[in-house]
Amino acid sequence: MAEETIFSKIVRGEIPADILYQDELVTAFRDINPRAPSHILIIPNHLIPTVNDVKPEDEQALGRLFTVARQLAAAEGIADDGYRLIMNCNQHGGQEVYHIHLHLVGGRPLGPMLS
Ligand code: AMP
Repeated sequence: MAEETIFSKIVRGEIPADILYQDELVTAFRDINPRAPSHILIIPNHLIPTVNDVKPEDEQALGRLFTVARQLAAAEGIADDGYRLIMNCNQHGGQEVYHIHLHLVGGRPLGPMLS
């Protein structure tokens, strides 16, 4: 059984977060350490530790990450200028929180994809 992270507590409202969207499948909230004017995390409500743990039954929730990303990018006013969606996996990917999350980052030119 995978160990819960702070993100499960955010989903359940047990610790505070700046939640922008929540439904039965996903939750979106502002990153506590924003790297750009808009930096939002969109996560499945149920725990999937890494992309390596994704199962076919997760497809609906994971698809929802993208429809919510589209909606939030529009709401943030960054859709036309553009933005970046990032999902890190494990150590080399730079993953810090082991509950998969889609970073929605924008609001300024983001530069090269990798540095
Ligand atoms: P990653 O490196 O892809 O695992 O990204 C984890 C992200 O979670 C980082 O950008 C952190 O700033 C963010 N983060 C960690 N704890 C919180 C929290 N309590 N609320 C919002 N964002 C958080």
